[in-house]
Amino acid sequence: MEFTYLGTAAAEGWPAVFCRCKYCLEAQRLGGKNIRTRSQAIINDDLLIDLPPDTYLHKLAHNLDLTRVKYLLLTHCHMDHFYPQELTVRGSCYSVDMVSPDLEIYCAEESFALFNRCTGWEIDGESLSRLHFHILKAFEPVQAGPYTITPLPANHMDMRHEPFIYHITDEAGVSVFYLHDSGYYSPAVWDYFKAQKKSADLISFDTTCGEEDTHGKGSHMGFPDVVRVRNEMREIGLVDAHTRCVLNHFSHNGHLLHHELEALAGPEQLEVSFDGKKLQL
Ligand SMILES: [Zn+2]
Ligand SMILES: [Zn+2]
Ligand SMILES: [Zn+2]
Repeated sequence: MEFTYLGTAAAEGWPAVFCRCKYCLEAQRLGGKNIRTRSQAIINDDLLIDLPPDTYLHKLAHNLDLTRVKYLLLTHCHMDHFYPQELTVRGSCYSVDMVSPDLEIYCAEESFALFNRCTGWEIDGESLSRLHFHILKAFEPVQAGPYTITPLPANHMDMRHEPFIYHITDEAGVSVFYLHDSGYYSPAVWDYFKAQKKSADLISFDTTCGEEDTHGKGSHMGFPDVVRVRNEMREIGLVDAHTRCVLNHFSHNGHLLHHELEALAGPEQLEVSFDGKKLQL
């Protein structure tokens, strides 16, 4: 499995769209891995995770052929993860010679409702007929081609939106936990983690709060939270020496620039995401 981070920032991006804080100014001055766009990842070339407003930028920056995407997995309906209007230009005269004209979309009921509210007045019937929504229920796995996807309840802001974190496995048994956006997980999610028969190949951790310790009480996590969670995962066997543990989803309010994150992460055997980071799993 090839896993690629396309966007690694929280909602406002980093540097943020409308911000002059010293962390944004410094990120903009340094450039490179400090330029972080809104959250998105892609597995191989056909499973896209989230559809932020920076999707088009990701196509350009990473030379993607998004017509190959057959499956779209939505974590939740916050704007940095789902910009439904983009789908109004997928199909009919806007999209010619697509490799995969049909798109299977997996999401919570609330994300589907947001799609309808945002696009109902302008999407054409032909484009709409190519979008196939599958409404997910927590802990109920679905099969998307070669991928088995299990949605788990995130601990994230308005729980009426049913935010999901995901466990994704492929036919070879490669196992990825994509834990965005979420604070500390519920006992039911820990039970799911404990029930795994093998360690994970990749765990992507929410690190929005940067240097802050939320003591497991936030709807995001900081670096000290992630270290504790990773250690708990080691104790139950979900993390072992081969597991890639990656910090991701950063905010200027977390204060840590890429080199500062790397200085903290390295001694803890954690990696730091950046836009374009690829992992072969
Ligand atoms: Zn987010
Ligand atoms: Zn800022
Ligand atoms: Zn969110």
